[in-house]
Parts: sequence; structure tokens; C-alpha cells
Amino acid sequence: MAQVDAAAGTADLIDGKAFAAGLRERIAQEVAGLDFKPGLAVVLVGEDPASQVYVGSKGRQTVEAGMASFEHRLPEDTSEAAVLDLVARLNDDPEVDGILVQLPLPKQIDSTAVINAIDPAKDVDGFHVINAGRLATGQPAMVPCTPLGCLMLLKDRLGDLSGLRAVVLGRSNIVGKPMAQLLLGQNCTVTLAHSRTKDLPGECGRADILVAAVGRPEMVKGDWIKPGATVIDVGINRLPPSAPPGEPGGKGRLVGDVDFEEAAKVAGAITPVPGGVGPMTIACLLANTLVAACRRRGLPEPELL
Ligand code: NDP
Repeated sequence: MAQVDAAAGTADLIDGKAFAAGLRERIAQEVAGLDFKPGLAVVLVGEDPASQVYVGSKGRQTVEAGMASFEHRLPEDTSEAAVLDLVARLNDDPEVDGILVQLPLPKQIDSTAVINAIDPAKDVDGFHVINAGRLATGQPAMVPCTPLGCLMLLKDRLGDLSGLRAVVLGRSNIVGKPMAQLLLGQNCTVTLAHSRTKDLPGECGRADILVAAVGRPEMVKGDWIKPGATVIDVGINRLPPSAPPGEPGGKGRLVGDVDFEEAAKVAGAITPVPGGVGPMTIACLLANTLVAACRRRGLPEPELL
């Protein structure tokens, strides 16, 4: 495992980019051994630039893994009924094993209604209430991709997580809550912190595992971190450009929710941003699609961890 620049500190760098590449390779090998092609349908409504980039990457990596990619790009003013109709058709389509509706959806569409219309067996984002319930009750579920990716990195780094104290910062349905459930499932002692938590630094300071998913640039400081802790930074925040508008200087740099320079001097291991959790999310989407394809056909599930 690579070390962070000696000048910056001593933490090992958790290379999510390399791990994700290896995972995609294992998925591609599994897919090559099947006598059918798993299919992933991605639904994008509107022109959100970040979503366009994500959907493009998802489609490309799906094809690279040997799976079929079906992209459905709909205009910004599409009605909720039209999206629900498309989801119903994808639910019935035997070539489609996974369905992902890219969020956020335009304001006229209720995302909860759309997500809960997806067949839970094809819900590769793991956001359907049935999958959330299965995860919470320890039953086989489709698990949300970002927390699943974080768990893979943690197990790769630490092995058995049993008995470790874990603090998850952020309680969203797509990251924080499922992350806490996954860590509980690994027998960690879990604290789920949020914007009303008193003494965040104190809570974080007891954590052997700290997962930050708040969407606040560099909020977690070095002196919040227990020496030697493993820090997983989910945040993706773009700082304002350094140059004034209209002048060259490009986009502002990407940072996580953790102050990397400070944290790397204290933590035992840390994910960088970019190149940490980000690449794991799409790799886990492909993993979920393969798992969904096997489960739907009653085939044994591949060992991907
Ligand atoms: P949400 O905005 O849905 O949730 C943020 C959570 O952080 C909320 O629970 C909120 O608390 C909490 N929070 C906000 N401010 C503070 C604060 N000052 N102190 C303590 N807690 C706070 O975000 P997401 O979960 O969707 O995303 C979190 C981050 O992860 C973002 O930067 C996002 O870009 C990134 N992300 C990265 C992905 C990847 O692939 N790497 C995928 C998904 C997200 P409360 O509930 O009390 O409001």
C-alpha cells in the first residue's frame, strides 16, 4: 500500500482507483464465463452536466465489463407518468437486469415514487424501500453502491472489522444510513452523526473507522481524528475557481469532507479525493448488476470481495 507523501504525514493511502480497477477486472472475468449478457439500463432525465458525465462513465464501464448498456435520455420537462411508464417497461424487459434512475430528477418528478416503482430485484442502486429494509434487517439486499465500495476498501485494509468503533458522519439514505447498517453488520460499534450532533470532534476522536459523508469541504480536521484511525472520505466538493470569473484558471479543485493534509498526519490510512471512494461507486454498480443478473436466474452469486 502506498504511503502519503512523507512531507504531508505517515498515513497509508487507500487507493480506491486501483482497487476499483481490480474489481472491474474480476467482474469482467465473471461475465465472460456466463452464457448470457447482464444488462444495465440507466435513465437520465434532463441536462444536469454532472449527471451527464456520470451516465457516460457508467455506460462506458458497463460495456467494458462485457455487459449490455441501455441508456434512456429524456428531456427536462418529462412527466412523472412518462418516467414511471419507462420504469415499468424496464421491469418487464428480460434483457434488463439492473435499473438505475440518475438522481437528482427534475422537480416535477417525485424521486421516491420513481425509485419505489423499480422492481427491487433490479434495483442496483439499492435505494428501494424493500432493499433498505432488507439491509436493515440483515436479509440479502441490493446494497447502495457508495457505502458498499467504502466497506470493500475497509475490509481490504483492516480485514475483520468486529468490535471496532465506527463513526459515520452524515445520515443520508444513499450514503450515511446504509453505511452505518453495513458496519453494524460487520459487528462494529456504530455512531451515526449528523448536523445536530453535539461535539462532533469528540465523537470522531473515538473512532477506529471514520467515514465522512457530509458534503462540507474539508470539515473534518486533523485534531478530530484518533491516531492510527482508518479514514474514508466520501465527500466530493468542488472549491470555487482560484481565478476570477472569465479568466483562465479552470474549475476549482476537488476536495473531500476531510482536510486531507492534516488528517494524513494522524490517521493510519486514508482515502484521497479524487481517487478514493469515487471510482468504487461505479465498480460496485457493475458488481450489483452482475449479482442481480445471477440472482434473477437462480445462479450462484460470484465472490467479488
Ligand atoms: P446529503 O446532503 O444528502 O447528506 C449530508 C449529511 O451530512 C446529512 O445527514 C447532514 O445532516 C450531514 N451534515 C451536513 N452538514 C453537517 C455538519 N456541518 N455537521 C454534521 N453533519 C452535517 O449528502 P450525501 O450523503 O448525498 O453526500 C455526502 C457527500 O458525499 C457529498 O459531498 C457528495 O458529493 C458525496 N457523495 C459521493 C459519492 C461518491 O461516489 N464518492 C456518492 C454520493 C455522495 P442532517 O441530516 O442533520 O441534515
